[in-house]
Formats: sequence, structure tokens, C-alpha cells
Amino acid sequence: MYGEMRYRTLNFELKKKFGEKVVKLSIDGGFTCPNRDGTIATSGCIFCSEMGSGEFAGKRELSITRQIEDQKSMLSKKWKSNKYIAYFGSFTNTYATVEELRRKYYEALECEGVIGIAVATRADCISEEVLELFREINEKYFLWVEIGLQSVKEASAKYIRRGYDLQVFHETYSKLKELNIRTVVHIILGIPGEDKEDMMKTVDCVSKLKPWGVKLHLLHVIRNTDLEKAYIQEGFPLFEKEEYVITVCDSLERLNGNIVIHRITGDGRKSDLVGPLWSLDKLRVISEINMEMKRRNSLQGDRS
Ligand code: SF4
Repeated sequence: MYGEMRYRTLNFELKKKFGEKVVKLSIDGGFTCPNRDGTIATSGCIFCSEMGSGEFAGKRELSITRQIEDQKSMLSKKWKSNKYIAYFGSFTNTYATVEELRRKYYEALECEGVIGIAVATRADCISEEVLELFREINEKYFLWVEIGLQSVKEASAKYIRRGYDLQVFHETYSKLKELNIRTVVHIILGIPGEDKEDMMKTVDCVSKLKPWGVKLHLLHVIRNTDLEKAYIQEGFPLFEKEEYVITVCDSLERLNGNIVIHRITGDGRKSDLVGPLWSLDKLRVISEINMEMKRRNSLQGDRS
């Protein structure tokens, strides 16, 4: 067991390391994305919203320090904590000069109580200079880097318009691993055209890589995205809750037990979500996953 849980949650892992609850503060670093500004493409990943997948982040027009203060005060009603991770999660958070990145990362790291940063980016957007900056930060602070693999199936990568091939992911992943930089790999469950076997292939591939962490996302259809248009035109099926719960439990059993599970469902805003609507009751989804793992009497990694 991982505390009281049957999988290694981020909360469990951070509490074990820092001796108390560590709160994640979502920051908008003011970046854009090469998959949207025309460098690679203009329309972005098919599921990406106009917020660059950073729906719950602070306001980009505010300084990083101010966003951190705002988030701290907002989240203090929910959790009592003195330790924070500043999470750069909107758009591509390495898409700037290394000087700008250094300034923004350190601005966050110098805020009171911030013990580290998390940086979400693309596998084709981490230069040697950025790797060097990560190496330096990783020596002094807690750092993790998130990259969106989503699927190992090339047809799916094309469908979602990821914008780089699998080889690029593997090369970047290896460089991060060589530098002992904690890496979190994103997987999307439910990409149109994928069956259960396809999804489990991605899960097995990621498990073998043994990244520090994994995020399992439920495919969400968000309003005003190209995925919404495709959903209306193609009418592809979305996950039913029961089927999703089973798929997540199968994934957890197949993921190596040392991998930290950062997410097991989606996190869409009610006003923007087209479907699946059952995912709005996030606590219920998580509870049903926990109950199914208990019913199976299984633990993360049992089938890895
Ligand atoms: S890489 Fe991220 S920000 Fe860029 S288009 Fe894809 S989801 Fe959106």
C-alpha cells in the first residue's frame, strides 16, 4: 500500500519527502506554443483550448510573484501548508529564451515557501541550454518536468496533431533521465480510433521507461476546440464512466509501483466541457477507481 492508497499518489510522495502537505500553485508564465504560433502549426493539438490547457492557472497579465500570492491566499482556505510547488502549466513553458526562462523560474523559486517548480512542456522544445538550466535548478530545488506523450501510436499522434514523432519523445526523455531530472509523462486515455490494446501499449511503454511520474488524462471534449468540431462531425464515442474506471485500474496495475501518479482523471471546467459530463464529479470518479482497486485487491504495479 502507499499510505492508505493502492497507488502512489503525488500527495503521498510529497508528504513522505517534505513531512507535510505540499500545495501546487498553478502559474501562467505568459508563454505561447510552437504548435500554435505557426512555428510548427497554427491550430495546436486538437484538444487544446484557448487557455493552452491551463484552465486553473493564475492570470497571465499579473507578475509571477503576484500570481503566487493570489494562489496561496485562495488555496489557504482549502489547505493549511507552508510549502509550495509553483506549477508552470499553461502552454509550452520552455518556449522562450533561456534568459527569460531563468528569470521567470527564479522569480517563482524566490517566493516565500516555494520549494520547487514544475514545468510542463513539449518534447521538441527542450534545448541543450534549457537542459543546463534544469540541471542547475535541480541541484538546489525540487524540480519536475512534464512532457505530453499522450500515446505511442503514430496514427493517434497525427490525429491529435502532437507535432513531433515518437523518436523525439524518447530522445528528450533520455536526456532528462541522464541528468536525473524528475520527468512526468502525460497519457490520454480515449483518443478516437484507439482501442483498449492501443491504450495499454502506451501504458506498458511508459511503465518500462520508469519515469518519476505519470498523468493519466481522460479525453475531454472542450468547447471551441477542433476536437469539439470533430466530435460533432464524426460522433466518436467517449468513455462511459464504468469503462473508464476499469481502464484506469488496468493502467495502474501495469504501471511500475515506483511511478508517482499525478492524475487519474480529467479536470475540465463545467462551463467549457462538452463531454464526458460524468467526469465533472471528479471525487466520485476517484472514489470509484479506489473501490475497484479494493474490489480487485490489487496494487499499482501488480501487473508491471
Ligand atoms: S503543446 Fe500544449 S499548449 Fe501547445 S497546442 Fe498542444 S496542448 Fe496546446
